[in-house]
Amino acid sequence: MSDYQITSNELPAPTYRHKRRLTGFSLNEIKSIEAQIPLSSRSLWKKFAVKEFSEKSDFERDFVHHIETTLARSMYNCDDLAAYQAASNTVRDKLIVEWNETQQFQTLKDPKRIYYLSLEFLMGRAMDNAMLNAGVKDLVKDSLSELGFNLEDILEQEPDAALGNGGLGRLAACFLDSLSTGKYPSWGYGLRYQYGIFAQRIIDGYQVETPDYWLTFSNPWEIPRHEIQIPVDFYGFVEEEFNPQTNETKKIWKGGERVIAVAYDFPIPGYSTKNVNNLRLWSAKPTTEFDFSKFNSGDYQNSVRLQQRAESITAVLYPNDNFDQGKELRLKQQYFWVAASLHDIVRRFKKTKRPWSEFPLQVAIQLNDTHPTLAIVELQRIFIDLEGFSWDDAWEIVVKTFGYTNHTVMQEALEKWPIPLFERLLPRHLEIIYTINFFFLQQVEKKFQSTYSQKELENLLSSVSVIEEYYPKQVRMANLAIIGSHRVNGVAELHSELIKTTIFKDFVKVYGDKKFTNVTNGVTPRRWLREANPELAELIASKLGGYEYLLNLNLLKNLENYLDDKDFKHKWDIVKLNNKFRLTKLIKKLTGIEINPTEYLFDIQVKRIHEYKRQQLNIFGVIHRYLWIKSLSPKERKSLVQPKVYVFGGKSAPGYYMAKLIIKLINAVGELVNNDADAEGYLKCIFVPDYNVSKAQIIIPASDISEHISTAGTEASGTSNMKFVLNGGLIIGTVDGANVEITREIGEDNIFLFGNLAENVEDIRHAHRYAPHLELPESLKQVFEAIESGKFGEGDEYKPLLDSVRYHKDYYLVSDDFDSYLQAQELIDEAYKDRDDWIQKSIISVANMGFFSSDRCIEEYAEMIWDVEPLERD
Ligand SMILES: *Cc1c(COP(=O)(O)O)cnc(C)c1O
Repeated sequence: MSDYQITSNELPAPTYRHKRRLTGFSLNEIKSIEAQIPLSSRSLWKKFAVKEFSEKSDFERDFVHHIETTLARSMYNCDDLAAYQAASNTVRDKLIVEWNETQQFQTLKDPKRIYYLSLEFLMGRAMDNAMLNAGVKDLVKDSLSELGFNLEDILEQEPDAALGNGGLGRLAACFLDSLSTGKYPSWGYGLRYQYGIFAQRIIDGYQVETPDYWLTFSNPWEIPRHEIQIPVDFYGFVEEEFNPQTNETKKIWKGGERVIAVAYDFPIPGYSTKNVNNLRLWSAKPTTEFDFSKFNSGDYQNSVRLQQRAESITAVLYPNDNFDQGKELRLKQQYFWVAASLHDIVRRFKKTKRPWSEFPLQVAIQLNDTHPTLAIVELQRIFIDLEGFSWDDAWEIVVKTFGYTNHTVMQEALEKWPIPLFERLLPRHLEIIYTINFFFLQQVEKKFQSTYSQKELENLLSSVSVIEEYYPKQVRMANLAIIGSHRVNGVAELHSELIKTTIFKDFVKVYGDKKFTNVTNGVTPRRWLREANPELAELIASKLGGYEYLLNLNLLKNLENYLDDKDFKHKWDIVKLNNKFRLTKLIKKLTGIEINPTEYLFDIQVKRIHEYKRQQLNIFGVIHRYLWIKSLSPKERKSLVQPKVYVFGGKSAPGYYMAKLIIKLINAVGELVNNDADAEGYLKCIFVPDYNVSKAQIIIPASDISEHISTAGTEASGTSNMKFVLNGGLIIGTVDGANVEITREIGEDNIFLFGNLAENVEDIRHAHRYAPHLELPESLKQVFEAIESGKFGEGDEYKPLLDSVRYHKDYYLVSDDFDSYLQAQELIDEAYKDRDDWIQKSIISVANMGFFSSDRCIEEYAEMIWDVEPLERD
């Protein structure tokens, strides 16, 4: 049969004898199978044949083993999904061996450990990363190809682990990679949501959310630890117990509802090391103590409902980025996660039999934002209620143990919980919070009573208090996190300065500024350069003598030796073009729109959709450009217009009306522009649906320009700005977040900055508030008129978006920054014409991005906040 013919000379076609040997089936069985399976699958016989006649590597043997046992299938009906599952199980098996040995080694050495508590881990895919870190990608690729599979297609089968919203969750993932690579004994703790961030579909231009059930197929990258089951209580009441021996009364919390936390472990490989750390995610299960009284009385429905209520705790990730919704289930998630994690951490410490005073010498807990702040209270409760410490002894240990990372200065993102809700859910914790606050305020009062007036003192106390006087009163999680930590850090220099002068300025009065520090964010070059952009990584390696730079990103500096190397610069250019091809293929697949990448400058803005990130500014700019192109004659277009494709991507929170409207406008503009013959070859506007980590890995390497244009003072750091520049793209941006430090590192000639500065934003807002009406620049007026004329569908639809600028005080300073933004875009067009100089800028930028490796972040945390050392496995 011709379909079975092997094209390669050395390999004969499989005979029925071969097929029988390979499958163990009889001749008749094989014939009947062949009659049933489609022709395309029959070519799988080829794979057997190749396997039979090639040298069997370990990988191939294990791969086939997993097909036949783990999946209980056989090679003849192995599709790409099955191949992915078998291949990932094979790679994982190797990883687990190293993971086990790392854990055993650490138990033996008992070093100080870092515990990174984050409600979000935006991990993306694991397979490619695991292979690259272990250095087996080429081997796997070759073996799979011998078996008749294409590795790239197989990697596409893996669903993203999308247990996060955006930057904060991805930061946690980059940190885990750097912790393992740096050989730091460390654990991540989070929740195993059954549904990660929703999948986004675009229907008629609108965002539609669909559930992300990422666990449809068994997940080889997690190990269920059914033996690790930790009870977590909620509700109930606080009892006082009198101990006649000590003559003391003790408070005991009697919980009213119990849920079980089951551990799922995710091995985190480091790059070029056998060190494999652990990410432990908790899943909520009902207790096995079924309510038989209800059951027996015939109330089966209600007895089952309670059980389902337990599982709902880890059902879904809250899809808000930089916004606090204040829902009861969210507070339940937080306590469930914190209680299980601390139980685990304390249990691990107790096993060593060290005195409690050594706890902060052995344990460093980092709070990723205020989401895990309850950990401070829970540890104090464990020490006081369960271990019998005095308040002061307990509190001293607690404060030494915790560090808190702040991620925003925006009011709407600061977590606050109504006291009535808190009291019902966690009555004992609220008592402890009151006591923490009482002692803290007492200390503040003592410090300032002689120098402050009564009024000043009252103002200070009410500002730093954990309790906000409101209706109802609220618990301020950020204040609690500051008081309960020995160090507080922001995530970029500007941001760390802003927290000291704005939201936390009164805490600086209390503590001085030593408690407040900065650790500028970073990204892992393993995922964001080598994995995302293998061609650029290889080109760089060819000049720097290998991939050592992935472990010491400052080595990139040596690329500056090749600024006059014509061949190198040419290759640099080709790599960018190839990456644009890769992106246009993805765009074609997702939207049907075809783009010839050779013609266009790629201008990309991908990140969560948010008014403060100002995608509206970008799309208004696109409209302005479109109107300009329309106003030109064909001849003028040819000579004046730099062809550009604007790529947008990102999710809006499902309940965020204005962000959803921005998505709709982007799609409407795309609909018009992409089908207008006058704009053909000059302008495209694309919205890539369902932006996530694996799409980011395709999108980011293709950019010439990326947009990081938040209102100055609102973006704490940004990390995609770092990813883009690391991949040879230049930035148009505001003087905000880490853009400031990127500029310092790469030089201001290599970045297109615009807009008002953070120091002026408050004054401008103040002027807006008291101006009788806002005067728009002519350029923006034209854009608004075009929108209202109905060019992009019903003009009225976008009224709220335009009104927020025109009539509602333009909080994000779109009108103030618009002309400055357009000027920066013109400078870009001008600069892009000189391609040689552009490539020069690109190379210099990459050469100076060493600082933005997350390895550097982890070293800074280790030194300034955690006081931990790496532990080398022998
Ligand atoms: C890096 C990253 C982000 C953060 O992007 P910013 O532009 O810094 O907000 C968000 N989502 C994904 C998928 C990312 O990879």
